Amino acid sequence: MQKNRKRYFQKEVKTAMYENWEQLKADCMQCRKCSLCETRTNLVFGVGNENAEVMFIGEGPGQNEDLQGEPFVGRGGKLLDKFLEAVDLDRKKNIYIANMVKCRPPQNRDPLPEEQDQCIQWLREQTKLIQPKIIVCLGRISAQRLISKDFKVTQQHGQFIEKGGILFMGTFHPAALLRNPNQKPDALEDFLALREKIKEICTHTY
Ligand code: SF4
Repeated sequence: MQKNRKRYFQKEVKTAMYENWEQLKADCMQCRKCSLCETRTNLVFGVGNENAEVMFIGEGPGQNEDLQGEPFVGRGGKLLDKFLEAVDLDRKKNIYIANMVKCRPPQNRDPLPEEQDQCIQWLREQTKLIQPKIIVCLGRISAQRLISKDFKVTQQHGQFIEKGGILFMGTFHPAALLRNPNQKPDALEDFLALREKIKEICTHTY
């Protein structure tokens, strides 16, 4: 699996240029590669432990995230923090959180494929530096981009799928859970399964 992970990163980050977080963050914060830069208040780079074994990847910043420059800080973010706490995860300690696009799409629309295409290089650079063992996709947008293009969250949530030596798991986006609270028990099951998988394959998350 270790060898596969190396191959995955070589393939995924063949244009990677960054050896350290400072330079990556400095360059990313200046990014104007797509039109979302025109309407952003703050670019939302990502947050968490840069040596994490588990990465969470959402869709894109919303209004609160755009204002504060941090991912998942509104009502959805608070809900996410509750799920994380339930399985002893903490964005300040043992995970890293980022999004598919780093600038807010107007009116919280889905990020367009071309915006994702422009932005994904930043995520690849972050992934290369972190080298996570597990990536959790929060919601359809990241799951369809990173796991499979026809991924259906309601049917495939909680399943671990290995790609290039990394285990991917898709689950509900916190904003979707706020709209459909009846899906919260399913989401909790996914987080509990995540905790077991972390115990199985990670060495310093817990
Ligand atoms: S969304 Fe990504 S690619 Fe577009 S301007 Fe922001 S950081 Fe750059």
